[in-house]
Amino acid sequence: MAGARKGGRSSADAAEFNRLVQEAKDRHNLSDIISRHTKLKKRGPRELVGLCPFHQERSPSFEVNDGKGTYHCWGCGEAGDAITFLVKKERLTFIQTVEQLLGDFFPTISDEERVKRKADDEKAMAARITIARDIWSRSVPAAGTPAEIYARSRGITIPLPETVRFVMTPRWRNDETGEVGRDYPAMACALQDVHGAIVGVQCVFLAAGGRRKYERVREDGTKAKAKLSFGMIVGSAFRLGPPSDHVILCEGPEDGLTLWQEMPDRSIWVACGTAMLPRVALPSSINYVSLAGDNNDAGRAAVEAAVAAYMGQGLPTTSFYPDPEFKDWNDQLRGVRV
Ligand SMILES: [Zn+2]
Repeated sequence: MAGARKGGRSSADAAEFNRLVQEAKDRHNLSDIISRHTKLKKRGPRELVGLCPFHQERSPSFEVNDGKGTYHCWGCGEAGDAITFLVKKERLTFIQTVEQLLGDFFPTISDEERVKRKADDEKAMAARITIARDIWSRSVPAAGTPAEIYARSRGITIPLPETVRFVMTPRWRNDETGEVGRDYPAMACALQDVHGAIVGVQCVFLAAGGRRKYERVREDGTKAKAKLSFGMIVGSAFRLGPPSDHVILCEGPEDGLTLWQEMPDRSIWVACGTAMLPRVALPSSINYVSLAGDNNDAGRAAVEAAVAAYMGQGLPTTSFYPDPEFKDWNDQLRGVRV
């Protein structure tokens, strides 16, 4: 049946799998799952905070958002959803996690509440996509801009593709008041959905005219992120190279550009986030996935989760890593050792 399998994965299989994964997550408040490991206090309608279950701390920097179904620690950087939490904290496999979430193991949310949340979420997503498309529409070709200078500083010597542009855009906005921060320069990478429509943008914010990434340590000692994604982040990807039935997936845009420079005839797709690596929605034309991982614990865990996720969709999946002395593909390109 090998031949049948090759062309036989239907988009229905992938859609059904993704639907099951989403349903598994939507059935619970993430805080009910995390509360088994750390005590959480309410901080907003659907936001909670507590001591981080992943690192030792005395003041709470671990945030849980039941609206988004996500958690994030400002201290150690751990972040993800119900699935990544259970994989990391209870050492379950991706598939075991989905099964557990679909069972009676955790308290579930009422159907009525779920319908309401779904409608709210769809509205919020549409608004986020509008913001991302606005950022993209204000961007300009990268040639001769700080975006190009940044790419060159990372050893990327090939002409940049259409999907990489330069933009001046705010790092933050307040959805309630409509207030926005001041504009910063950024390399903008287009995020495309399963149909190829631009539904998001990952901005790599830049400093020193593009010679380095934006870096700032806040007053409380936490670091401001250089990369922010806008629009639809889950399921979308920053695409490089020609379309093909074999896609190579990686975490970050610098790695994606590096791999594309080395393998220009291949399809390289960037998930734009460690937690996003298992969640890219792949069109039914793709029948083989290779994961180009990062060489650290978080990178290897993400690849493991991704292998399980894509194999679960009936896709043969393999993984490969840079040489052991390099953290990621771009470090390897530039000879920057750990
Ligand atoms: Zn932490």
